[in-house]
Amino acid sequence: MNNSIVYLNGEFMPIDEAKVSVLDRGFLFGDGVYEVIPVYGKQIFRLDEHLDRLANSLAAVRIPNPCSESAWKKNLSQIVKKHDVQDQSIYVQVSRGVAPRDHVFPDKITPTVFMMSNPLQVTDLNTFNKGVKAITLDDIRWQYCNIKAITLLPNILLKQTAKDEGALEAILVRDGEVTEGSASNIFIVIDGIIKTPPKSSRLLPGITRDLIVELATKNNINCIESNFSRTELSAADEIWLTSSTKEVLPIVQLNDEVIADGKPGPISRNMYEIFQAYKTEIKQHKD
Ligand code: PMP
Repeated sequence: MNNSIVYLNGEFMPIDEAKVSVLDRGFLFGDGVYEVIPVYGKQIFRLDEHLDRLANSLAAVRIPNPCSESAWKKNLSQIVKKHDVQDQSIYVQVSRGVAPRDHVFPDKITPTVFMMSNPLQVTDLNTFNKGVKAITLDDIRWQYCNIKAITLLPNILLKQTAKDEGALEAILVRDGEVTEGSASNIFIVIDGIIKTPPKSSRLLPGITRDLIVELATKNNINCIESNFSRTELSAADEIWLTSSTKEVLPIVQLNDEVIADGKPGPISRNMYEIFQAYKTEIKQHKD
C-alpha cells in the first residue's frame, strides 16, 4: 500500500481509508468506465480531451456524468496538488454505483467516483533505444472498444498471453485487419508513410494516438488514418505503439519476425523526439 491521497465520492482521504461497497456495480459487473491522465511537471496533459472521452464513455454506457466540467477540473487539480511528485498518472474511475445485484440498471443510483494519483512511469530512453517484442492475437474483445470500459477481462487475458510469450504487448487483429494493442494504439510505416487505423468502435480513441497524428501533420510528415492487414503489419518498415504511459514505443520483433533491422526506425525516432519536445514545452508553460 502506498500512502497517497485519493478522492472517493467527494472526499479526499488516505488510500487505506478509501472503501467501496461489495455491492458496487464496478466490483460485481465491471459496470463502469475509466481514464488514465498523465501529468507532466504538475501540468495535466490534454485535460479537455480526456474529459471529453470520459463524457463519451459515460454517455455510451448510460451513466450520468457525476461532475460538471469545472468540478472535474477542480478535483483533478487538487489531487495533482496533494501528490508531491512532478510527473503523475491520474486514474479516474466512475462506476454505475451501489445497488442490490440485478443486471438491469437500478432506478435511483449515484455513481461511484474514484481518483488516485501515482508516479508516472513512461518508456525510458534505454527501452526506446532497444525497442520491444509484440505478438499478434485474434481480437476477442467485445464490439464497443471505443468505450473506455473497466470490463477489461479480454484485454487482461490477451496481455497475459503476450507476457507468457516474452512479448510486451499483443497486437490485435479482427477480420484480418489490425485494430490496436491490448492497452495501446498502433502505428506502422510503409514506404515512408505513417498509417494508423481510423477511429471506429473497434478501437479506443487514444489521446496519445490523436496527438501523434496531429504532430505528424503539423510537421509535414505523411500520416494517414487507414486500415491495414496482418500481412501489411509484417511487411512494415517500422511499427510503434502509443499510450499515455508508453508514449511512443517501437516494436522491433513481431512473433518470430524481426521488424526491419531489429532497431527503432528513423520515423519512430522522429515522432518520439517531436513528442518529447511537445512535453518539454508543456513543462515550461507552468502558471
Ligand atoms: N487502446 C487501449 C485498449 C487502451 O487501453 C489504451 C490506454 N491504456 C490506449 C489504446 C491508449 O490510449 P491513451 O493514449 O489515451 O492512453
